[in-house]
Amino acid sequence: MNGESNTNQHAALHSEVKNRFGVVPNFFKLASESPDITENLWGFAKFAYLNNPFPSLFKERMFVYTSRFCEVRYCIARHVGFLAGLGHPSGDAESKTSPVELIIPLLANPLPRDEALGPYLELVKSLQLSKSSAPEQGSQEEYAIFVCVAHLLLFTDRTHDCLDALKEAYSSEDLEYLLVFLTFIRTAHYWTKIHPDLEMEDDLRQLFDVQEKLAEKIFNDPEAGSCELSTQLQTELYTLRRETQLMAQVKATNTALEEASIRKDEFLATLAHELRNPLAPITSGLEAMKIAIKNKDLKALEALRTTMERQSQQLTHLVNDLMDVSRISRGKMSLKLGPVELTDIIASAIDSVATKLEQAGHKFVNDSAKYKSIVVKGDPVRLIQIFSNLLDNAIKYTPYGGEISLSVTMDATNVVVSVKDNGIGIPAHHHEKIFELFSQSADELEAGEQGLGVGLSLVKKLVQMHDGNIEVVSDSPGDGSQFVVRLPTVEFEEQALTSKSEVEVNNGNSCRVLLVDDNKSAADILGMLVLMLGYSVDTVYNGRAALEMAPEICPDIIFMDIGMPELNGYETAQLMNQEAWRRNTVLVALTGWGREEDIQRTKEAGFDHHLVKPIDAEQLKNILHYISNKDHAGLERYLS
Ligand code: ADP
Repeated sequence: MNGESNTNQHAALHSEVKNRFGVVPNFFKLASESPDITENLWGFAKFAYLNNPFPSLFKERMFVYTSRFCEVRYCIARHVGFLAGLGHPSGDAESKTSPVELIIPLLANPLPRDEALGPYLELVKSLQLSKSSAPEQGSQEEYAIFVCVAHLLLFTDRTHDCLDALKEAYSSEDLEYLLVFLTFIRTAHYWTKIHPDLEMEDDLRQLFDVQEKLAEKIFNDPEAGSCELSTQLQTELYTLRRETQLMAQVKATNTALEEASIRKDEFLATLAHELRNPLAPITSGLEAMKIAIKNKDLKALEALRTTMERQSQQLTHLVNDLMDVSRISRGKMSLKLGPVELTDIIASAIDSVATKLEQAGHKFVNDSAKYKSIVVKGDPVRLIQIFSNLLDNAIKYTPYGGEISLSVTMDATNVVVSVKDNGIGIPAHHHEKIFELFSQSADELEAGEQGLGVGLSLVKKLVQMHDGNIEVVSDSPGDGSQFVVRLPTVEFEEQALTSKSEVEVNNGNSCRVLLVDDNKSAADILGMLVLMLGYSVDTVYNGRAALEMAPEICPDIIFMDIGMPELNGYETAQLMNQEAWRRNTVLVALTGWGREEDIQRTKEAGFDHHLVKPIDAEQLKNILHYISNKDHAGLERYLS
């Protein structure tokens, strides 16, 4: 085609467009780029839109309502222009126009979805419609049809329901005309989209200058003309939003994990430090012992032994506290509750710290003796643990030569025990924090003093398990601290009191002990202790040897480790249980594992008792005493 005929064809199209619409929209001015296509599209527009038999105003209004959910502002603006009287709606010079107040709802009414769509579907189904008639402008019926058509155009999840409703309202031939019109609307949208530079015509600018509400809706309302509500787009948006949420969640989880990891690292560092504290003197003490033995210096040996004993007690104490906290936080700690004399408990707690008190040079005042019969419902072991921990801290956080007091008062329902010191004190802002696990008073750390921050957390939990409460009073740093424990009291019943079992020393009865542990040193040292307590002992280092030795010696008691190569403790115990000699032997697991599930497992393997290493001399002495007296019931009570 040459340039001249091109221009002619162009001019002919413009005049035809002008004839039909009364204006020439800017879009047709681009026609010269592809005249053939424009020509054919114009033919399609006439067939599908302008000559489509539906009423002109109805078509134009439908065009505007359905387009507002797509990103086609120019298109919407132009067709709003037709409705408002700038040119002819649907190219029909005879058509009426829409008043502005009936155009606004087309731009404002939302697209009903999900349950909200139901009534519109029902309404459309109930209508008898034809291509030559249309409901009144702005009526519910008109809106219901537009809603169904919009769902069709946008391919939403309800497209099929809407098509079914329209099928009931229109004959199939009329519905085909409607679908052809929708195809045209979609085509017009794509025309608009591939020409994003289309400028608004002057007549439209003037209209929107005057009709601000229309302009507001078209250009400023994000819901009008700017959102492509197709199912696909929504899915993408949803996925995007979901991904963003997931990313945020992952980020938050990462931060939490990082924080937890930092806390864990800090804890491990503190734990290592705490363990090194008692380990260092034990290691160097052993070296010093070598020299003392060589020099036959008994005095030095005894001094070293005392230090090492104190340090290993500290280690055991630390590990026990950790185990208890872990047990409580997993809900695995149960109390053996009974009526207990509080003054007995306090006396035992004081006993347990007596050496430390003396070494720290503190003056100690105890006024609990003035009450003779305060009975609380509690677990004696745990109650002693509460007060010995508080006393331990008072000793630890008070400089040499301080003053510590323990006093008891009563109110209507509680006994109130207070442990007071005149040590370094605790700043008020740390009062709550010190009861948290692994927390120390920061000032403390700065001062170079370090603890693990386990004791008070354990104390608080134990007090709560006894239906009591604990608080700290410390007005200003340097003025000392006071910890106040309140426990509910119960009626006194003398016979029912749970007292600590008093065990006499070895009465000369015999008792034969078999020790089984692959850790040779641990087994040998324990063996020496048994001998020193006055009983006979055999030591073997694996399960197989134990199975061979036991029928020969018929031991009264066997202490056996669990983790051993070849035959472990569980397997050995199971084999032992099939033997005749086993009926007269008490089988005790002696292991580093003390969790509830470990205890359960040894029970299932057929052990009679479960002890956690290290067993102390006092405990060993008591056990062997019961065994030598053949007091199995007493042993049961003692170990339960
Ligand atoms: P630890 O003593 O092992 O650090 P605790 O849980 O027993 O752990 O105590 C937590 C913190 O509370 C201690 O680090 C210390 O800062 C503070 N604290 C506890 N008791 C006292 C006390 N009597 N005087 C001063 N500070 C104390």
